[in-house]
Amino acid sequence: MKKGFVISGSGIFAAMLLSVSFLAARAQAESATTDSGTSWYSKIIPLTKIKFQPVAPTINSRNIKKRPAALLGGAHIMRLIHKKSSFAGNVSKPNTVAPLPHLNYYGGPLLGNVNVVIVYWNKSVDYRSEITGFYDAVSQSPYFDWLREYNTPTADIGRGGYVADYTDDSSPMKPVVEDADIQQELSWIIKKQVVPATDSQTLYMVYFPPKVTIDLNGEQSCQSFCAYHNTFKDTNGQEINYGVIPDLGGACADGCGGPSRFNNLTSVYSHELTEAMTDVAVGLATGQAPSYPLAWYAPANGEIADICVGTPNGNVSGYAVQRVWSNHRGLCVASEDDKGFPAPTDSMTSGSGNLEEKPNPKVVSLP
Ligand SMILES: [Zn+2]
Repeated sequence: MKKGFVISGSGIFAAMLLSVSFLAARAQAESATTDSGTSWYSKIIPLTKIKFQPVAPTINSRNIKKRPAALLGGAHIMRLIHKKSSFAGNVSKPNTVAPLPHLNYYGGPLLGNVNVVIVYWNKSVDYRSEITGFYDAVSQSPYFDWLREYNTPTADIGRGGYVADYTDDSSPMKPVVEDADIQQELSWIIKKQVVPATDSQTLYMVYFPPKVTIDLNGEQSCQSFCAYHNTFKDTNGQEINYGVIPDLGGACADGCGGPSRFNNLTSVYSHELTEAMTDVAVGLATGQAPSYPLAWYAPANGEIADICVGTPNGNVSGYAVQRVWSNHRGLCVASEDDKGFPAPTDSMTSGSGNLEEKPNPKVVSLP
């Protein structure tokens, strides 16, 4: 927004006026979402295997809200994946004796029978019917069934439930959409009752059209992350769980998977979905060490899907899904029968990693 202005010559005064009115509107927006989930944990899918570099000082540095270095919480991102992954395929044993990743349970809530409400930011979102079809397929498949490994004393994980999809016609039309905009829009459409109300099992997944950048606390989609999931409290204090999936064309095409844009979309979607199911309150977590309300979380590696970013996609009913970590098998898997893959070695040291698709003849490229 403000960073997008190109100010030249006599345009300065007009630009100042615009900036002032923008800032006023923004301040209003921010005060309306005081409780919003910009806590340190919300969970992003980073773009590729690139280790995330704090945003380059050349472009955005003035606008970056600095994170306290040691805190873990906030939107949980999936970072961009490096095109040249070091992942070597089905390696039997690593040379070094690195400890296997392990998800610990911190007592937080799960989405044991997730009800997904799919929100299309507007009618320009690509693959709308396919996205809905993908959820129908995976939520009733072995991809969900094996997650029972992560049942807790208070919650069982099983197949997904009710899905609604809604194409919004009131969302802000602008090239850079901030996380606060998304939270406000979700609050609004829930209040208008055009989407199902939230409950303890509801996850709103928000899809974006091409050429819209998502700004999360100064980090931008397709520059530093592929997608994320998060939680915020609306003005009634109700917790809203949501995921954000940018369009994966453009700059994301290189950073969020392989050559098939649709496979990348379903793979990234499955990443966020399984993470929200097994660690839904990550966006509300605070503090310097993993603790409640985290659910399943590996201190050194992040959430269930982060550990496996970079393994080849699995295939569920012809759809590409990201394999996710099984403590029990010590592998990245897509189902109980799946042969599985070891975790890429760089997931041992970094939080969320990447996701690189290898050729998989069983994966249908486009419906
Ligand atoms: Zn993740």
